[in-house]
Amino acid sequence: MKNKKTIELRTEIPGPKSRELMERRKAAVPRGQYHATPIFARRAEGAVIEDVDGNRFLDFAGGIGCLNMGHRAPGVVAAAREQIDKFLHVCFSVTPYESYVAVAEKLNALAPGKFAKKTLLLNTGAEAVENAVKIARAYTKRPAVICFEDAFHGRTLMAMSLTSKTSYKAGFGPFASDVYRIPYAYAYRSAEGSTAESFARHLTDAFKRLVAAESVAAVIAEPVLGEGGFVVPPKEYFALLHEICRKHGILLIADEVQSGMGRTGKWFACEHFGLEPDLVVAAKSLGGGFPLAAVIGRAEIMDAPAAGGLGGTFTGHPVSCAAALATFEIIEKEGLLERSTAMGKRFEARAREWQRRWGLVGDVRGLGGMCAMELVRDAASREPAEEETKAIAKYCYEHGLIMMTAGTFGNVVRILAPLVMTEEEFDEGMDVLEEAVASVAGSKSAMLSHA
Ligand code: PMP
Repeated sequence: MKNKKTIELRTEIPGPKSRELMERRKAAVPRGQYHATPIFARRAEGAVIEDVDGNRFLDFAGGIGCLNMGHRAPGVVAAAREQIDKFLHVCFSVTPYESYVAVAEKLNALAPGKFAKKTLLLNTGAEAVENAVKIARAYTKRPAVICFEDAFHGRTLMAMSLTSKTSYKAGFGPFASDVYRIPYAYAYRSAEGSTAESFARHLTDAFKRLVAAESVAAVIAEPVLGEGGFVVPPKEYFALLHEICRKHGILLIADEVQSGMGRTGKWFACEHFGLEPDLVVAAKSLGGGFPLAAVIGRAEIMDAPAAGGLGGTFTGHPVSCAAALATFEIIEKEGLLERSTAMGKRFEARAREWQRRWGLVGDVRGLGGMCAMELVRDAASREPAEEETKAIAKYCYEHGLIMMTAGTFGNVVRILAPLVMTEEEFDEGMDVLEEAVASVAGSKSAMLSHA
């Protein structure tokens, strides 16, 4: 059992109170609502989560990338409290309020591209994806959407139809029509020698093989795959993709739900590629821990749907908007973009060393604080090490580190730690991860030598 500076384990994991709650959870909540750990939270602060048994965990998951500014960031809590004392819900569709407009103005200024922009606010990433597609269709007057293998866009009908991994879709068909899927620029799992050009060619081929270009409203892409395993395309890839889109009057939608809001060391991951998408989808850390999502885009595109065509009862909730305004300020004042870049470097230095030591670590990749390693059974065959990845995640939470996996094959360890995490905390978390990898890689080579 660990008892270091931050991590403090008072009981075996999960402790008695978590175990008791798990029994109630199993009886009351459907199994389809997955949980990555059996730990029930009691409180959280900064980069630390305390469970109901008094155990303290370092958080490398950030509620799946929603806490770049940290748990209960003081500015966010103060702004939310202030808003709660004024009004809760009046509905922007009934009596508008300033904070919604202020969030839209800020996102219009932050999103890549100097052109005039407008922003629609929503509650969740999936809802924002649905709306981005609606807007693209209204503007282009075309039906089809092209998406990617290994993509994740959410769990509602269109968002799920755009999602690739079959475990998110099994049993839920029929899916939305006019959705076409092409391979992503996933170098580690593509033919040797693949280039930005050869990856982009999948799009031009699609116009022959899958759907006529003049029927396509939009191509939707994550600049860095999130659930798909933190895959980073070659630098020139998106410029090529956008050029092909422009040539055919197709809009490019960047889904920055996971990669945005400073996660990669820039406000939006698109900036790393010099990409100025027609529409950008944001969510997760945008709300500072409250539900908030956005579609940001070229003003003339955003204005394509008629008045009343967009909206929702709770969209752009006043408390979420107040929290978002505080979040922008925290990211700027606390230098979280720089801290994200530094976190990525710290991760890479350690993970590359692990890669040299253990064949299990097949690939180390990422952009800033959106970093990951892909685990394989064998460096040559690259057979995904799904069970080993699960064992590492389990070792981690049993030793005080909450960490999530990703990837179509479930074999990616990903880091979504709050960007306010101190270097000491991050190193402590990486120590646990190293022990976890060592224990699994060690037992694997022991297994092999017995074989
Ligand atoms: N797009 C991406 C890239 C995501 O990572 C996610 C969530 N993991 C979504 C969309 C869906 O967001 P939400 O869960 O808020 O609906």
